[in-house]
Amino acid sequence: MEKAIRWGLILLMLVAVLGCARNPVTGRREIVLVSESEEIAMGLQADGQAREEYGVVEDPRLQNYLQAVGQKLAAVSHRPNLEWHFTVVDSPIVNAFAIPGGYVYFTRGILAHLNSEAELAGIMGHEIGHVTARHSVRQITRAQLAQLGLGAGQILSPAFGQFSGLAEQSVGLLFLRFSREDERESDRLGVEYSARGAYDPREVSNFFEVLGRMSAASDRQTIPGWLSTHPDPPERVQATRGYASEWIASLELTEERMVVNRDNHLRSIDGMVFGDNPREGFAEGGRFFHPELQLQIVFPQAWRIENTKSAVIALDPQQGAQMQLTLVDAPQGTTAAEYVRNLAARGTVPESARDLNVNGNRAVLALYQIPAEGRTLAGMGAFIEFRNRLIQILGVTADAQRFFPIMEESMRSLDRLTDQRILQSQPDRLRLYTARAGDTLTAIAARLNNPRVDADQLAILNRVAVNQAITPGRQLKTVERGY
Ligand SMILES: [Zn+2]
Repeated sequence: MEKAIRWGLILLMLVAVLGCARNPVTGRREIVLVSESEEIAMGLQADGQAREEYGVVEDPRLQNYLQAVGQKLAAVSHRPNLEWHFTVVDSPIVNAFAIPGGYVYFTRGILAHLNSEAELAGIMGHEIGHVTARHSVRQITRAQLAQLGLGAGQILSPAFGQFSGLAEQSVGLLFLRFSREDERESDRLGVEYSARGAYDPREVSNFFEVLGRMSAASDRQTIPGWLSTHPDPPERVQATRGYASEWIASLELTEERMVVNRDNHLRSIDGMVFGDNPREGFAEGGRFFHPELQLQIVFPQAWRIENTKSAVIALDPQQGAQMQLTLVDAPQGTTAAEYVRNLAARGTVPESARDLNVNGNRAVLALYQIPAEGRTLAGMGAFIEFRNRLIQILGVTADAQRFFPIMEESMRSLDRLTDQRILQSQPDRLRLYTARAGDTLTAIAARLNNPRVDADQLAILNRVAVNQAITPGRQLKTVERGY
C-alpha cells in the first residue's frame, strides 16, 4: 500500500515535469515542458522585450486597425479563448512575428508593403497559426531538452554580456526560426483562418509574390526580415493558392462573401512613417547622426552600421570586430571614472584605463580581456560624459593589434551634432495619391524628389510594373520626403 502511494507520487511528479498536452491544432498528444500558464507568462515577459527592442507605433487608429483584424481571426482560430494581443511595432523592416501566449506583432514596414486587409489577414492568420499550433512551445521544449545535456551556459562579464545577447538573437524567443513543416502548417492555418474570417484567402499569395520581387531587388540595407525566416516565396505562392481553393470550396465562399478591403487598408496606413526614422538616428556615408541625442560619430570605414532602439551596432564586414554604442543606465551625474569603477566592482575589471578628452567631453578609455566560449577576446570601452548623459562605446575583437587603433579613432570621433539641417530632420511618410491621366511611376517619383524612393520602389509598393500605364483615379502609395 505504502509502496503504491510512493509510486503514484513519483508518477505524478514525472507528469508534472514531463507534461503531456494535446496540441490545439492537430489534437495529438505531445510531450511539452511548458504548460499553458507558463506559455502565457513567458509571452508576457517576451512582450516587454519586443516592445523595448522595437518600440510601439503611437498611432491609435493604426493599432485599432490591426487589433480588429487580429481579434476577428483569433476568434475563428483553434485557440479562441487565449487572450490575444496585436501590436504595430516601430520598425521599417518588413516583418511580422508571434511569440507564445498569444502575442502577435506587425512592423510598420510590412504594413506599408501589404496592399489589402485580406492580405494582412493572410499573414495575420499565419502568425496566429504559429501560436495555436504551439510551434514556439515545441521549439522551447526541444531547446530545454538540449540544455539538460549541456549544463549551464557560459557567463560573460556584465558589461560585455550584451554582446552575447546579440550573437544569440537567433535563438531568442523573439527570433525563433521554425522548421519547414511548421511553416507549411502555419501557411495552411493562415489561409484557413482568413477564409473562416470571411476574407478572400487568395490574397495572401500576392504578398508572397511581392516578397519574391523584393528579394530580387534588395541589395539595399532593408533586408526583409520576414523573408529571411520565411524563404522560398514561389513555393508558398503555389501552396497557398492551393489551400485557398480548397477552403473556398469547403466553406462554399462566394465572391460577394469574400472581403478584400483594399481601400480600408490604404486609408489606415496613410500618413504612417516610412523607412528609417531619422529622429532616432541614421547613417550617411559611414557617419552616424542622432538628432534627438544631438550626437554624431564616424564609424570605421566600410563597416556595416545597424541602428536599433537600444544600441547602434557597427560591424567589420569580415566580422573581425564589432562596436556597440549605448546610453548608460546610471544615475544622472555619474562620471565616466565612477562608472568604470562600478563595472570593476561588479566583476568587469579593466586591464588598463586612462582619461581621455573626446572633443571637449570628459571620457575614460579602458581595455578588457573578455572570456567567451572557450577563448579570450580583447575589449575596448570608451565611457564619455556627453550632454548630461553617459555614453558607452564597447568594441570587441580577437585581433587587438589590427582593430584597437581603428576602434579608438572611431570612439574619439564622437562629437556634438550642430548641423541644423540634420537636427531638424523629419521622417518620410506614406501618402496616398490619386493618379491623374498620363501619370507614370517615373513621373510621380520625379515629383516626389525623394532620394530614398525611386520608381522601382514605388512599383513594388503598389504592385505595378515601372512602365505600366496607371488608370486615372487609382489610389497609389507614395512616399513624401521628410529629410
Ligand atoms: Zn512563419
